[in-house]
Amino acid sequence: MNVHDSEKMLGVLERQGYAETEDPRRADLIIFNTCSIRQKAEQKFYSELGRAKAYKKKRSKMKIAIAGCIAQQTGEGIFKKAPYVDFVFGPQNIHILENLASGCNASVVTEDNPHIAFTDLPVKRSDTVRAWVTIMYGCNNFCSFCVVPYTRGRERSRPSDSIITEIEALAEGGYKEITLLGQNVNSYKSDIDFPGLLRRISRIGGIERIRFVTSHPRDLSEDLIEVMADLPKVCKHIHLPLQSGSTRLLRLMNRGYSYDDYLGKISTLREEVPGIAITSDIIAGFPSETEEDHFHTIMALKDIEFDGIFAFRFSQRPGTRAAEMEGQLPEGIKSERLTQILKLQDEITERKNKALEGTIQEILIEGVSETDREKLTGRTGTNKIVTIPVVDVERGALISVEIIRGRKHSLEGRLIER
Ligand code: SAM
Ligand code: SF4
Repeated sequence: MNVHDSEKMLGVLERQGYAETEDPRRADLIIFNTCSIRQKAEQKFYSELGRAKAYKKKRSKMKIAIAGCIAQQTGEGIFKKAPYVDFVFGPQNIHILENLASGCNASVVTEDNPHIAFTDLPVKRSDTVRAWVTIMYGCNNFCSFCVVPYTRGRERSRPSDSIITEIEALAEGGYKEITLLGQNVNSYKSDIDFPGLLRRISRIGGIERIRFVTSHPRDLSEDLIEVMADLPKVCKHIHLPLQSGSTRLLRLMNRGYSYDDYLGKISTLREEVPGIAITSDIIAGFPSETEEDHFHTIMALKDIEFDGIFAFRFSQRPGTRAAEMEGQLPEGIKSERLTQILKLQDEITERKNKALEGTIQEILIEGVSETDREKLTGRTGTNKIVTIPVVDVERGALISVEIIRGRKHSLEGRLIER
């Protein structure tokens, strides 16, 4: 989501006559688009900011702006830590960049902007085949560990006509795959609901694949599962964050489902959408997590066999309820549990990838591999990365490949059909 916000900032700035530079020392404007979801991201930002200070000393006309969730949460406080910063704006106020050329006077813009869902900002996209499209902003869920409702504000759905217009333009521009973005896409609601939106997008010619993130397990409806089963353009992959295999912790996290509810949704998904890939997020070491709770998570990973997960050590985020809960765990225990989770999941992912050896998969070609110029990379509908020896096909082509090797983080294939 932050990467796409950066694309919007670039789009707005380009209209003002700005161009990107690879060399930050030559920039007239440096924007840090920050993330505050975990402490690690925040620490990294402050060390990068120190580097920008040195650049600015040598180039007096340089301006430094802080955007994103740290900007939203820290506001004026950033000037105390870094008085050389020129302005600060939150994720709901990207449009203020439109006033840069005429001189942006406000130094801190962090107010709640409920109209953001109705503001169509220009976007400078980094890819020519795959595109992100925001369908909703903010979140109402207030999971006890999460800063998003405080930094991105309340949930607002973008009107469906505006989404469709953007995607039609993308299709005309040659884009083949779109990923719909929102913190909880399943609760999208304007004149139509999320399954209705998928049905409308599916009718747009030229778009071959439709993906979406993130789905909240509580709001995953029968109707959405039906749409995933019926519409060939909707990719057979869902990212469905579980967070913990312990129902006691899920309650403390305010997730709104039990482990059994989650399992029920997984089995319906697998019954109704054969071959679906399911990925998830897991938090290790939530406050008061016992060995038994952790064991429930380990068992959940073994029972469900996700295709992949993102797992994180619990991070105390200022202003969230979980940050104040009793039973905060030492970093050592959190790390130990995280390592166990990741090790187990790596084994499961590798096993599942190996099971695909010999199968035929359709992949969308993304280009030459960054690590091996002799290979092309592509992705299956189930979101698995496949590399194949370079052949004469264009980016954006959909081709069939045979999987010849399943690895931990990717698959190797060979072209079988053009
Ligand atoms: N909206 C999505 C959902 O609820 O499923 C998740 C969005 S959040 C930006 C991405 C992931 O970051 C979460 O699923 C969670 O696993 C992780 N996360 C959020 N806050 C965290 C925290 N305080 N400590 C560790 N991980 C956290
Ligand atoms: Fe954060 Fe996702 Fe929960 Fe919203 S649903 S509060 S974004 S974890």
